[in-house]
Amino acid sequence: MSSPIRVRFAPSPTGFFHIGSARTALFNWLYARKTGGTFVLRIEDTDKERNRPEFLQVILNSLRWLGMDWDEGPEKGGNHGPYFQSERGALYQSYRQRLLDSGRAYEKDGAVWFKLLGERHTEFDPFLNREVEKVKSPPMIINDLVRGRVERAEERDFVIFRSDGEPVFHLVNVIDDIEMGITHVIRGEDHLSNTPKHVELFKALGAPLPVYAHIPLILKSDGPGKMSKRDKGALVEEYQGRHFLPSAVVNYLCLLGWTPKDGREVLPINEIIDQFELTDVHQGNARFDERKMMHVNAEHLKQKTISDYAWLARPILTAAGVVAEDEPEDRVQKVLTVCRDKVSSLDDLAGFTRFCFREDYAIDEKTREGLAKKGDPKARVAEILPDLQAIPENNWNTDALNAAFEARAAALGKKKTEFFQPVRFAVSGQGSGPDFFPLIAALGRECVLRRLEKFVAG
Ligand code: GLU
Repeated sequence: MSSPIRVRFAPSPTGFFHIGSARTALFNWLYARKTGGTFVLRIEDTDKERNRPEFLQVILNSLRWLGMDWDEGPEKGGNHGPYFQSERGALYQSYRQRLLDSGRAYEKDGAVWFKLLGERHTEFDPFLNREVEKVKSPPMIINDLVRGRVERAEERDFVIFRSDGEPVFHLVNVIDDIEMGITHVIRGEDHLSNTPKHVELFKALGAPLPVYAHIPLILKSDGPGKMSKRDKGALVEEYQGRHFLPSAVVNYLCLLGWTPKDGREVLPINEIIDQFELTDVHQGNARFDERKMMHVNAEHLKQKTISDYAWLARPILTAAGVVAEDEPEDRVQKVLTVCRDKVSSLDDLAGFTRFCFREDYAIDEKTREGLAKKGDPKARVAEILPDLQAIPENNWNTDALNAAFEARAAALGKKKTEFFQPVRFAVSGQGSGPDFFPLIAALGRECVLRRLEKFVAG
């Protein structure tokens, strides 16, 4: 039997998907998966000007990419729909009459106001610069799973239907939570100031209160402010475009405001689900750290088998024009085996591996000058070339290569490392890169000999 826990992620489609929203979705999703509950996706699209179908797709695509499947919501359905607020207008209007009839709402200046209970008096409000009516009632206690006991008071009646007849956010948010049977409201701390209004509405409507969990804000990497959509790294689409692994993005997002009990920070989603507790979410704000996110991504990449890694990398390398469609898979895997640990993201791979697959790769002129100053790189390559030509295709491996370099170095009274830099430069145009023998082996006999012969002749 599934658990009675029902949580919801309630985004307003704005055309982009902020990582703060993604983390709110994630904490809801984790809680549902941990408890066997239901994860509802509800679209708060009452802002008519901004409501466009493509904006919704941005959210749905990002959720799907991150692996957060929803149990009820758009494209999925469920028993509590419709899941778009724009389609629930009649329901909201039925509440209007109900609140007016019960005396908990009244009409003023064409709008409908929610009426607080308590002792009324007027006070001069310096911010509004006029007299206002205030209501004194005992402070309400919100037992927040993250913030603990929060004491708040709502002091003024507030609008629930504007003069154009449209219901406001507070009301529709609460009506939907009631109608959708939401048991836990997990949302950003920026909504904490709305919660007293929501609690008043729940009570006035005779509905049980949900459990609240207000999760900390995400601060920008380099300042006191909240991360805005303009900050680098703020949007989920960006990570998708930069070929981050979704498992790594999810892993990093959950570290923004939560620490696994066993202290490990890099972990797969099933272990995150096992360890996740809302009561362990931090009260303090989290700070976005791009380097840490890169690190988590690199760690997730390391855990891939070479065939999985190549499966991820190959389309990216092909799209970048680096790997040809007909490049043999075993050569791609050989090259990736020696290169993968030298790059921290799939995005860096095309630039890094270009010389392995194409002839039009960059030559580092500084390395050329440096080598020329130190000695005669062409002579070193010419000395070792016949030994390499003598290695047959079926024996082109690191052991045979190492033996060839050792023998030639010994015969000439040199150190084998004296050949490394000239040969590396001749085959890659670079002064550094993957480990020497594994690289020469992975490039393959044909490619290495061709480039060395050209270097000697050039
Ligand atoms: N639509 C609101 C938002 O995007 C959701 C508020 C809530 O989760 O209660 O911030």
